[in-house]
Amino acid sequence: MNDILPEQSSAWHYLEEKFLSVVKSYSYAEIRTPVVESTELFNRSIGEVTDIVEKEMYCFEDRNGERIALRPEGTASIVRAGIQHGLLFNQTQRLWYRGPMFRYEKPQKGRYRQFHQIGVETFGMGGADIDAEVILLSANLWRSLGVIEHLTLEINSLGSKEARDSYIEALVVYLSDRESLLDEDSKRRLHTNPLRILDSKEQATQTLLDDAPCLMDYLDDDSKQHFSMLTSILDAANIKYVINPRLVRGLDYYNKTVFEWTTDKLGAQGTVCAGGRYDGMVEQLGGKATPAVGFAMGEERLLLLLETLDALPASVGEHLDVYLSAQDKGLQPQVILVAEQLRAEFPDLKIRTHCAGLKNILNKARQTAAKKIVLIKDVEGVGLTATLWDEQEVSYDLSIEKLIAELSVN
Ligand code: ATP
Ligand code: MG
Repeated sequence: MNDILPEQSSAWHYLEEKFLSVVKSYSYAEIRTPVVESTELFNRSIGEVTDIVEKEMYCFEDRNGERIALRPEGTASIVRAGIQHGLLFNQTQRLWYRGPMFRYEKPQKGRYRQFHQIGVETFGMGGADIDAEVILLSANLWRSLGVIEHLTLEINSLGSKEARDSYIEALVVYLSDRESLLDEDSKRRLHTNPLRILDSKEQATQTLLDDAPCLMDYLDDDSKQHFSMLTSILDAANIKYVINPRLVRGLDYYNKTVFEWTTDKLGAQGTVCAGGRYDGMVEQLGGKATPAVGFAMGEERLLLLLETLDALPASVGEHLDVYLSAQDKGLQPQVILVAEQLRAEFPDLKIRTHCAGLKNILNKARQTAAKKIVLIKDVEGVGLTATLWDEQEVSYDLSIEKLIAELSVN
């Protein structure tokens, strides 16, 4: 779990502000849910035989013996909140969220135990048009961050539950005949979650899958139509994509559309955004059947990508407009008060006061690279006087009123 240090936080703000302005332009509304939920919620929604539930969740009992878990992802909590507050039945919702997620994983570059996701979830819309919208929304974020050239969109359809079940049967028959050739993980999954074998990282298993039955051939008509509508919207919007018939995603709850944005710049942790349709989940968690589609992206991976590509603007959040200090001892309280006065007049300026020793004050102030330096002194018979250094290093003395007038023209 990482600390986010002051020198890093401006990059986080940059990313989140870009995301915020994109979701605003699509009129999505924010939802915030608690960081802990009942463990049962995740078991029921994510699936008992997924990596997350089997080995990655932080679960514990609270003082009352309730089994609770730090959330490993956002979707289940949002569905829970949607049902609980009556946001879903007979309505459409377009929501976004951000926040920390927790998974007990082996930490490495791009994979941490506390990480942050930003994402969207939409409810009440079953057509391929909204699938296209959420994908286009993500593409717009890549554009505004200047990284779209470095990302690949992979899409697939998992079909209906029935179509998937009959595909899984065929897959199990094919792989059972060749079980001895499978890697250990896949052998286990053959009996627990056979679909996940498709995204095995083992080369031998992938080779074995070359001749396996293909999920696309088992799709029901409705899912086929849905998928072709999606690809035709993406084509018309000029979004490039790759159809990856082995893209199945790690969570149980998806149906029809699934997609990932991947990059080759981050090594093994190349997926920066992943999502899809999950029409069965609301009902599974006790609500009325409600279609849903969404995605989540990993902020750490996105920031790594921005860094790798040198796509972070150099001066995010760094400049200082005014540095204000006392020139002589005893005037520090006045400095605080003058600064308050300036902030009230100029709410957009970034003003910092000097609250430490005054030795070499001018040098210390210059090190901050502030556009203007103001030193306050008390001149006998005149009262509080400001000495102002402008960017040309020229200094002159002014009353506080004149200082305000001077700052308002510059
Ligand atoms: P992976 O295959 O890399 O484990 P996942 O399928 O478990 O990913 P999702 O649950 O789909 O990931 O989460 C969506 C996104 O959140 C991922 O694409 C990734 O960008 C990010 N993410 C997931 N787990 C982590 C983690 N432990 N640390 C940092 N980012 C993560
Ligand atoms: Mg994972």
